[in-house]
Amino acid sequence: MPAATQVIKTQVGIVGGGPAGLMLSHLLSRAGIASIVIEKRDHETIRHTHRAGILEAGSVKMLTESGVDGRVLTEGHRHDGIDLRFNGTSHRLDFQDLVGESVWLYAQNEVFVDLAAARKRDGGDVRFSVTDTEVLDLETDVPKMRFTDPAGQRFEVQADFIVGADGSQGMCKRAIPAEKRSDHFIAYPFAWFGILVEAPPSAPELIYANSEHGFALISQRNDHVQRMYFQCDPGEDAAAWSDEAIWAELQRRVDGPDGFTLKRGPIFEKMVLPFRSYVCEPLRHGNMFLAGDAGHTVPPTGAKGLNLALADVRVLFEALGQFYATGSPELLDGYSDTALERVWKAQNFSFWMTTMLHSREDQTSFERKRILGELAGVASSRYGQQYLAEAYTGWPHS
Ligand SMILES: Cc1cc2nc3c(=O)[nH]c(=O)nc-3n(C[C@H](O)[C@H](O)[C@H](O)COP(=O)(O)OP(=O)(O)OC[C@H]3O[C@@H](n4cnc5c(N)ncnc54)[C@H](O)[C@@H]3O)c2cc1C
Repeated sequence: MPAATQVIKTQVGIVGGGPAGLMLSHLLSRAGIASIVIEKRDHETIRHTHRAGILEAGSVKMLTESGVDGRVLTEGHRHDGIDLRFNGTSHRLDFQDLVGESVWLYAQNEVFVDLAAARKRDGGDVRFSVTDTEVLDLETDVPKMRFTDPAGQRFEVQADFIVGADGSQGMCKRAIPAEKRSDHFIAYPFAWFGILVEAPPSAPELIYANSEHGFALISQRNDHVQRMYFQCDPGEDAAAWSDEAIWAELQRRVDGPDGFTLKRGPIFEKMVLPFRSYVCEPLRHGNMFLAGDAGHTVPPTGAKGLNLALADVRVLFEALGQFYATGSPELLDGYSDTALERVWKAQNFSFWMTTMLHSREDQTSFERKRILGELAGVASSRYGQQYLAEAYTGWPHS
């Protein structure tokens, strides 16, 4: 270690200031457990990065009941259902009637703003814009993370535990030797072309549309900004699409005898979102734990990514809480298995929604008709609707 490196001691060192890292740090501080979060991006960049937008009821409770902020309840929108649209006809799934639950439309960047503000309010130690992050000595009693702050000062954080909450491209999982982890992975032959548009909502709730031209999701952000996606090739160049071509593509995927028409407006962001399903098993190496996208990613079709990240944190927080309160490592030893049980349920749900709603270029007429049969089976059966509604709104937390 170079002589100029400053050493800091804490209980939990957290790599990544996304929803997983900040929520864990927030919960730990309420239990009197010290932590330091390091984040490579700056606050403003994260605040303006648009990602997920649907929160399960359990995620909303985590934000409100743990004292992060109640803004989700006043500025978010409760959604009691979604529309499944196929053959040009919408079929509403009423979540309240089916499973007595709802989801909340509240953008991930607002979740970040709330969590970062709560950490600041409570005197939390969150360091933005760090570079050259390393994690080391993970199999010892003093695992460490090192980083350089924006002023060029090098730090070493010595902790009891390191948490890798550094997202899907993060380095923490790669610090686990290849022979000690299993990488379960699939790629999909399509991606989502996403736009953000200044317009009022086209419909009261989200529309998941299967059409012969491919999938479309008519989603929302708030009363003035909408999020819409259509299935595209993973190699698609978003900049090459004119606004007119985007609207035509979206509209033909939701066209139907009911004459449903999208509400248009200026498009101010275009992006292509690649799809993959990934799980790192186990979510632990020595005294480092992985949480959120750092340990697993799902395609966005089931709106599970952000919610899974928070669900991991709930399990990990309880385990760390038990350890610091009693000295027992029992829940920490069970963290990976406990978290992965929900992760694999969510992987299955996300995969199922994805394959049921998207089309493939090599799709045969049999496969196209089979998918329509599957959609009709779900939409016409209370049991089918209930499975979707329960998974979408989030399984109960144990
Ligand atoms: C474009 C996009 C759209 C999405 N849309 C949806 C959606 O509609 N619905 C849904 O449910 N999910 C969606 N997701 C997934 C969702 O955003 C993630 O599941 C969620 O962000 C996971 O939270 P996290 O805290 O685990 O990871 P992240 O939010 O990725 O946070 C990880 C943080 O770690 C930081 N970091 C990485 N490496 C380092 C390092 N070496 N040192 C310090 N910091 C580091 C990153 O800068 C980042 O801020 C989307 C994801 C993307 C990329």
